[in-house]
Amino acid sequence: MAEQVPGKVNMEKLVSLCQRRGFIFPSSEIYGGLSSCWDYGPLGVELKQNIKQAWWRAVVRERDDMVGLDASILMHPQTWVASGHLKQFTDPLVECKKCHLRWRTDEVTDQNCPSCGGELTEPHLFNLMFKTFMGPVEEEANVVYLRPETAQGIFVNFQNVLNTTRKRLPFGIAQIGKAFRNEITTGNFIFRSREFEQMEIEYFVKPGTDEEWFNYWLEERRNWYVNLGIKEENLQLRPHTKGELAHYARKCYDIDYLFPMGWAELEGIANRGDFDLAQHANYSGKSLTYLDEETNEHIVPYIIEPSAGVDRSVLAFLCDAYDEEPAEDEIRVLLHLHPALAPIKVAVLPLSKKENLAQLAREVYTELRPCWMVQYDDTQSIGRRYRRQDEIGTPFCVTIDFQSLEDKQVTIRERDSMNQIRLPIAELKGTLTAKLAGEDLFVLPPGGQIWKEERRD
Ligand code: ATP
Repeated sequence: MAEQVPGKVNMEKLVSLCQRRGFIFPSSEIYGGLSSCWDYGPLGVELKQNIKQAWWRAVVRERDDMVGLDASILMHPQTWVASGHLKQFTDPLVECKKCHLRWRTDEVTDQNCPSCGGELTEPHLFNLMFKTFMGPVEEEANVVYLRPETAQGIFVNFQNVLNTTRKRLPFGIAQIGKAFRNEITTGNFIFRSREFEQMEIEYFVKPGTDEEWFNYWLEERRNWYVNLGIKEENLQLRPHTKGELAHYARKCYDIDYLFPMGWAELEGIANRGDFDLAQHANYSGKSLTYLDEETNEHIVPYIIEPSAGVDRSVLAFLCDAYDEEPAEDEIRVLLHLHPALAPIKVAVLPLSKKENLAQLAREVYTELRPCWMVQYDDTQSIGRRYRRQDEIGTPFCVTIDFQSLEDKQVTIRERDSMNQIRLPIAELKGTLTAKLAGEDLFVLPPGGQIWKEERRD
């Protein structure tokens, strides 16, 4: 991977913004942090939830052929025997005899340690699953694993979902949840961590239609990112080579994003064939088939799996939204986040803290708060407050000034264009609803004004 892609935000700059503004902090920071674990702060948790909600809406709520699931993180240990994770979910590692750092074999080009140049051991297999014990006694019989992917929770519930929902093929099950991998090489901020979240779909189809559904989901998932604002030129579809294909996959494509350190996987789309249902049927002794009503035959459906990372999506949306613009004698930093993803949708900014103005501003705030995540800010100059909201991606600021007390009108200032309009408070909620839903134009009430300059006090 390249160190820094020209024109992309520098990762250190992004990490600093995320910490400074409360998007993402190192885990247990007061103790010095925990390697490759991250905590989402007040703004980060909103952004992350908005991403998950947008995904859920697109793949569950707005579709007839999908249902949701929330399976437990700890699963019967046999699950990981059947899935192949106990045997196959391993990275061959070499260890430096001098500094004891471990490296994936694909990271070392010769027999020496990339860090200190020391001699390396022969490769050893290292399982990426976190092991723990169930119950009070720590013995092998009680070993359970933290799931390394959410997918298996879906496969083992295939029959439960089929029986309770009466879905017919093709249909899918979607799940969002935590996954854990004891990754060897971590880094690049939240790109590769040891605890992360996945958004996975297992889409069950009739064998023979799998190729068609694979192509469908590839397109569908790419469009999801584009519709939420990711620039098309920053996405690419990359087929896996034969040597790269996972043991369960007949075919796999990565949706890659151009991160600051280069192209890397954002989401994987795999055609898993009948591998998973056949394996679990075999190991559990339960029938995991589907009665094809046309032929009256029991078949094992094929599975198309679009598997996305929540944290990698957070990183991609942040990188894509980050922008710097010259503004007077300073740089305006802004996040062009899609309104559906922006942590704060509207900031209410009274021009002064004076009692009568504050009261009106509070009334506006109280009216908007049930609709969206709204922030009230009355500290520092209005210019500073606009900059603060720009930097966290707030699409709209509503300014209340002394004139507002007289004419019951307020100003909306738009993040990207910096256009400002003045309109009656009575029209505020409707206008913001339209704007947040993506309507391009402000509907100006009679006598309304539109201007561009920043207003400063
Ligand atoms: P990579 O090759 O980058 O390790 P992978 O191919 O092992 O990823 P999958 O097993 O296909 O990843 O997992 C599906 C998705 O889960 C990935 O596309 C990614 O978005 C996310 N993901 C996987 N591992 C991690 C991790 N360690 N940290 C953050 N997200 C991850």
